[in-house]
Amino acid sequence: MDEFSFIREYLSPLAKPSAEVPVSIGDDCAIISPTEGMQICISTDAQVEGRHFPANAPWNLVITRAVGCAVSDLSAMGARPIGMTLAISLTELDASIAELIHKGIQHARERYHCALIGGDTTYGPKQITVTVFGEVPVGRGMLRSGANDDDDIWVTGTLGDAAYALSDLNEHRIAEMNMFQQRYWFPPCYVDFAQSLLPYASSCMDLSDGLGGDIRQILRASNQGAELVSECLPLSQPLCKKLAIERAVELAITGGDDYELLFTAAKSHREALLSIAKAEGVMLTKIGSINNNTGQLSITEEGNRKTLTATGFTHF
Ligand code: ADP
Ligand code: MG
Repeated sequence: MDEFSFIREYLSPLAKPSAEVPVSIGDDCAIISPTEGMQICISTDAQVEGRHFPANAPWNLVITRAVGCAVSDLSAMGARPIGMTLAISLTELDASIAELIHKGIQHARERYHCALIGGDTTYGPKQITVTVFGEVPVGRGMLRSGANDDDDIWVTGTLGDAAYALSDLNEHRIAEMNMFQQRYWFPPCYVDFAQSLLPYASSCMDLSDGLGGDIRQILRASNQGAELVSECLPLSQPLCKKLAIERAVELAITGGDDYELLFTAAKSHREALLSIAKAEGVMLTKIGSINNNTGQLSITEEGNRKTLTATGFTHF
């Protein structure tokens, strides 16, 4: 199948022009009409076979995960998704692969509320680069730099499940698609919840490389320190069944790929945040607090405070 019939038959039907995106697939560029009073947020995420996803993983799963990871960056800013471009490179393109790509985009578009507006298709090693566009009220995007002394530290969902999936990933497991695999292949979607956080959160980010390393980004950008409480880290029941508690906590701190939201907010917002989370059906846990011991990250366990040296996953 050539690139042009692939685009015409499998991609164009997925991209319908709208008031917001009056020009979508088919021209040299897509055109976005931003809402007045809004700023555009842009993020790009590249994923390479064998590095970011296992070799031979089916295209539909690769696409859903890549889109989920990219849209997670929009949520981290509190932005509403407008559209995405997908740059795909592949070594073979036949009807069954085109069908899987179509299916993956269709699923991702619905799950993450993000329209397909363009992309690129080239011959080369299997990889995908997703660029997402979203909008947020002018000057209101949630940054990493706003955490204040004494703020609460909150996290959505449970931690460590996707990392456990990755430790056990093979073709057999992919076919089985157990709870851990689902956590890895289908990152959570916090599009609505994240926008509700705008009046409350002082800083926010998404957890891609592990809590222990990622939270340092907020501490560095905000010039603060933090104390986490080990017993408060949200662990799923399946994870606690599989692993001894110490190992589960370790995965929650060092494991990547959760794509949960980590944010800080003044104590005075506790009740408001918990009721928003309840209304949105989001699990929300307070895991510690910010302090002014710049750059220091500690964790208390059964009342004993330790410096947290374990860092999350780093790429180099
Ligand atoms: P150009 O050569 O001008 O960059 P292309 O022939 O590469 O245009 O693409 C034609 C149209 O198809 C463009 O609108 C582009 O955005 C879209 N497109 C190409 N590949 C993809 C893809 N993988 N996903 C979504 N849209 C794509
Ligand atoms: Mg062109």
